[in-house]
Amino acid sequence: MRTRLRDFVTALAGLLEQRPEEPQLLQQGAQLLQQLVLHDDWLPIAYAQPDSQRYQQYLLHADSLRRFSVVSFVWGPGQQTPVHDHTVWGLIGMLRGAEIAQGYAWQEGVLREQGSALRLGPGMVEAVSPRIGDVHRVSNAFDDRVSISIHVYGANIGEVRRSVYLPDGARKDFISGYSNLTLPNIWGLSAEAVTP
Ligand code: FE
Repeated sequence: MRTRLRDFVTALAGLLEQRPEEPQLLQQGAQLLQQLVLHDDWLPIAYAQPDSQRYQQYLLHADSLRRFSVVSFVWGPGQQTPVHDHTVWGLIGMLRGAEIAQGYAWQEGVLREQGSALRLGPGMVEAVSPRIGDVHRVSNAFDDRVSISIHVYGANIGEVRRSVYLPDGARKDFISGYSNLTLPNIWGLSAEAVTP
């Protein structure tokens, strides 16, 4: 249904308008995101395209006050992120396929895996933030097909200066940008082809 993304954006902006504390924001935002990813019938094909070299991050919406952004993450078979942080709150909703998220935490000055890896299937939502755990590595759970998750962040994430962590623990500056050059039209609801 073509209004799903628009309805999510409008509802999330309304939630942020109430200036909730982060726990409430993450809880209610997760419910909204879950409603979005429970149905895989709205993501335009252009924002679901994998790349053979690298996972893709397509901006779907940027809030005009830069309070949040919505991104489709498209994983080619076997692709994964480096270990990285976000510096702002984030919600990850699984739309198609599955991904594995492994959290990391600092222990005695060393970044180590924390807890066991979480497998996200369609309709599941996970949260990150500097308060609850902000460093992770995310991988496509499949090495033979594409997976797609919808990410929401408490900033225009493509411009946020943040960090990746190399295997030896070294920190590297990182600004993700976005993979797309155009945005989906969610307001006029023109007839865009959608998958599947
Ligand atoms: Fe992440």
